[in-house]
Amino acid sequence: MEKKGQYPHRRWNPLRQSWVLVSPHRTQRPWQGEVGQKAAPSGVSHDPQCYLCPGNQRAGGAVNPAYDGVFSFVNDYAALLPDSPAPTDAPVSPLMVAEPARGLCKVLCYHPDHSLTLARMTREEIRPVVDAWTREYLELGGLEWIEYVQIFENRGAMMGASNPHPHGQIWSTGFVPDEPAAETQAQRDHLARTGHCLLCDYVEAERLAPVDQGRVIFENEHFMALVPWWAVWPFEVLLVSRRHLGALPELNGDERDGLADALKRLTTRFDNLFETSFPYTMGFHQSPTDSAAHPEWHFHAHFYPPLLRSATVRKFMVGFEMLGMPQRDITPEDAAQRLRACSEQHFWPRD
Ligand SMILES: [Zn+2]
Ligand SMILES: [Zn+2]
Ligand SMILES: [Zn+2]
Repeated sequence: MEKKGQYPHRRWNPLRQSWVLVSPHRTQRPWQGEVGQKAAPSGVSHDPQCYLCPGNQRAGGAVNPAYDGVFSFVNDYAALLPDSPAPTDAPVSPLMVAEPARGLCKVLCYHPDHSLTLARMTREEIRPVVDAWTREYLELGGLEWIEYVQIFENRGAMMGASNPHPHGQIWSTGFVPDEPAAETQAQRDHLARTGHCLLCDYVEAERLAPVDQGRVIFENEHFMALVPWWAVWPFEVLLVSRRHLGALPELNGDERDGLADALKRLTTRFDNLFETSFPYTMGFHQSPTDSAAHPEWHFHAHFYPPLLRSATVRKFMVGFEMLGMPQRDITPEDAAQRLRACSEQHFWPRD
């Protein structure tokens, strides 16, 4: 028997101003792809070969201090540099435009223990990471020429992460990159049209859905974790502050604890879903640090995990998705239901 809402439809993403195609009936099709092995986290606390472990030498020659908390440094192989000269050649055609791109790229180690991940760190260990992200946003965003601070983490080899050591990156740029620029415009338009914040309105709307059919995974006092209405990746999650605020420095102490708690609980549920160290790209979207005021901005994090049905079977964005539009099979409501059913006790406890 067909369940209500199990027919192909497309859903609007108001933050990106784009559509996603949802094809829930396809989850019934037979699966002939690979079914893989579970992956346990690394069991080594200090890896002499790891360029992020305390006391080790990095490829560029610098030696890491014997740090015992968080540790950040300028990326030895940065994608952006502070001093990028403007292209001097006159453009051959207005269709081939280049602009100088300046930036500063940093690496932030979350913890000295090589074997840990956010999911297996405690709330008390994650809080200093939240504080460090806040410091970096203030310091980098405070530079006159930096217009955006993109804090992110690539987790797992499947996402191209070159090193399992718990760490993330901070790329700050002399321009607002495309994703936050599109979200700035969408939030600005919504505010101008309705007098309200887009994400405040969205969180309010999610509250109206019955919990067992809705998209909310969990809430604490300060943050809500949900599979958004417009999710593209199978287990995509939006982590959104319950209070309207634009950026990390506006979080008070309790809210920073609330963010650490939400990160711990969400990443633990992710790991428990397929009993693996769950790969993802995650990152925060927050107010640009250009000279403009940003009353429209509502602080949030996106989690984009690639896994679909087991520890190794991933979703690919190919075919129609590259050429047409993104498409998903499992509905956001079903994904939220599965994440709600996961324990907040990690399947692979420490010690
Ligand atoms: Zn390491
Ligand atoms: Zn808001
Ligand atoms: Zn965003």
